[in-house]
Amino acid sequence: MKILITGCAGFIGINFTKYWLAEHRGDEVVGVDCLTYAANLDELSRVRENPAFVFYKADISGAQSVNSIFEREKPDTVLNFAAESHVDRSIASAEIFIRSNVLGTQCLLDACLRYGVRRFHQISTDEVYGDLPLDSAEQFTEDSPLKPSSPYSASKAAADLLVLSYFRTHGLFVTVSRSSNNYGPYQHTEKLIPHTVDAIRRGEDVSIYGNGQNIRDWLYVHDHVTAVEAILQNGRAGEIYNVGGGEELTNLEVVGYIMSAYENCKSKIKFVEDRKGHDRKYSLDTSKIRKQLGWKPQNSFREQIKSVVLAQLLR
Ligand code: NAD
Repeated sequence: MKILITGCAGFIGINFTKYWLAEHRGDEVVGVDCLTYAANLDELSRVRENPAFVFYKADISGAQSVNSIFEREKPDTVLNFAAESHVDRSIASAEIFIRSNVLGTQCLLDACLRYGVRRFHQISTDEVYGDLPLDSAEQFTEDSPLKPSSPYSASKAAADLLVLSYFRTHGLFVTVSRSSNNYGPYQHTEKLIPHTVDAIRRGEDVSIYGNGQNIRDWLYVHDHVTAVEAILQNGRAGEIYNVGGGEELTNLEVVGYIMSAYENCKSKIKFVEDRKGHDRKYSLDTSKIRKQLGWKPQNSFREQIKSVVLAQLLR
């Protein structure tokens, strides 16, 4: 198999690329990334030493460069991890989110049609469903309506709809996965967990939006990687799969776990003005992927968070 992975230098993309190269020897991997601030250059340069991996620095929203990569490499499978991924940045300015997340996806889909790619997988997010009241027992299924709250999640929802339209209109074999919040190695320090570890390391206070009661479901990145692998192997055309860790925690609890994993924590919690339109709670029903593909998460937040914190502290 020749697999083209966009966003291969980002947090989830680099974890996926490393896993695929290790577990699927014999496959060729083509990595594409325009190397924004979020790219992990150190880890990418390590991956580039692998002869089964070839890298292109390119923007997925540029049709010319995307087409020339597809023309040259002729991938049979395309996985789209590339995106602007930080909600706060999308609130400050939405334009690049539309360009990379929506136009970029369209560009890749058109290249898939033009160069006869066998299948396309879109990495999406549970944020496309919007949020739930904090005391709600409801869970989002793949059939829940899309009600994104932020420009980031709106751009991801738009991309999902575009992907699914290429299945109905053009018969392209597409799948979409919508995952909950990931944590694990190589995550950018703008995100809650690495941001908290960084503040503790510097002896600074840890800032939390609002009152810290917002609830997220946490998924270890390696579990996300194996879910995408299961979808690539046995997922059905035109289908969406929710992927979650089943570990719902308030932001305050997450920060509390990190502080208690750090022996000499001198930092205090500082509540800051809430994020605009801040989603209250995400909760995912993941029974479809569990029943249809036999996938389930293998890692528990309480166990993994210690090693994630330690790895970042030792860097
Ligand atoms: P990230 O921000 O860490 O990495 C994104 C990567 O994409 C970066 O290397 C960046 O350089 C690259 N990129 C951005 N725009 C590009 C463009 N126009 N052309 C080429 N490359 C481009 O993001 P992440 O956390 O690894 O997220 C990966 C995917 O997973 C995204 O689609 C995101 O929406 C989705 N997702 C993330 C989470 C999470 O918790 N991190 C949860 C659910 C879904």
